[in-house]
Amino acid sequence: MERHTLLLIKPDSTKKNHIGAILKIAEEHGFIIKELKIFQMDHEIGSKFYAMHKGKDFYEKLLKFMQSGMTVAAILQRDDAIHELRKLVGKTDYHNTKPETIRRIYGESITKNAVHASDSVEHAKTEIKIIFPDFSY
Ligand code: ADP
Ligand code: MG
Repeated sequence: MERHTLLLIKPDSTKKNHIGAILKIAEEHGFIIKELKIFQMDHEIGSKFYAMHKGKDFYEKLLKFMQSGMTVAAILQRDDAIHELRKLVGKTDYHNTKPETIRRIYGESITKNAVHASDSVEHAKTEIKIIFPDFSY
């Protein structure tokens, strides 16, 4: 299980045509793309995906943003996938993370921070199930 994680390329990045660039960075860091899809998130998927943030002050803004354009979802595979992708993505706040991270390069605000990456085995499993219900390991 820890060989798989979920990457979302969020609407800010897809709008700016950064899909290819971000997938290239992932591939260059040893990730294999196992599944790939482009779709527009609706309120139902968004509220399932971000259920753990319900009630937080940024929750409504986050859901609205995630429905504002296309999202690319990728199941990525490599050793220690979850930890390695979180490292490559960087911290939530794009301007407060390391220079060589995806969020520092492509993020534009704390909400519009370019990408999502699963933060634990439990969340990776839940998130993959929401976006790719038929994926089997
Ligand atoms: P991460 O995506 O780094 O795991 P969280 O799970 O805490 O971060 O938050 C989910 C998403 O919600 C973030 O990626 C970001 O888009 C948005 N977000 C988080 N914290 C804030 C905040 N304080 N203000 C606005 N948006 C936020
Ligand atoms: Mg998170």
